[in-house]
Amino acid sequence: MKKKIVYLPQPEPQTHITFRSRAGVTDDILALLHEKGRQYGVESVLPFRTDNIVLAQWVNLKCRYGCSQYNANWSCPPATPDLDQVKRMMKEYSTALLLAGSQNRNDFYKDSNRNRTDQVKYWKGTVSLERMLFLLGYDKAISLVSGACSLCRECAYPKACRFPMEKRPTVESFYIDLVGTLKHLGIETCVAMAHHETFKYYSIILLD
Ligand code: SF4
Repeated sequence: MKKKIVYLPQPEPQTHITFRSRAGVTDDILALLHEKGRQYGVESVLPFRTDNIVLAQWVNLKCRYGCSQYNANWSCPPATPDLDQVKRMMKEYSTALLLAGSQNRNDFYKDSNRNRTDQVKYWKGTVSLERMLFLLGYDKAISLVSGACSLCRECAYPKACRFPMEKRPTVESFYIDLVGTLKHLGIETCVAMAHHETFKYYSIILLD
């Protein structure tokens, strides 16, 4: 009997191959993310297309001037990718999740142990959701976290990071204009003007 040869389709060179293949995020997965996120103070998880993300060079000005973490933390510039690299990376992602949390304490702006504990908890929540997504088949999942890494009381930068498995870049280090991006998503936000006002924080997980 003549043997039949089956030719399997070959991917085009440069085509992004993922386990999930741009399948988006299902309601079941969103429910899982909400459930796990709540343990870490993540109040909402919003999926959106990455073309809503606004990138701008000026964001780097805010990192360079007026922030104590510039050139002092592995999660911040100049340790993080430059704008051209970020633009190329973003083209490799189709979907993102916006994670939001809030604080309603009048000392949120102070450098206190309590604030650091909350920040670390939220940071760990973002990274643990990223890990969960990876295990669900989103092999490209990567977190952009809210605020400079506070896992150590003082960052080891420029010496080697003490927890490289947990280290992630901040949203701003990726030149993301967060307010512009929130506007694209129809989310109203404003600067907290008084101590009693709610302070919101946001992180992003990139997916494909
Ligand atoms: S884990 Fe520690 S050394 Fe590493 S980036 Fe965070 S604060 Fe810096």
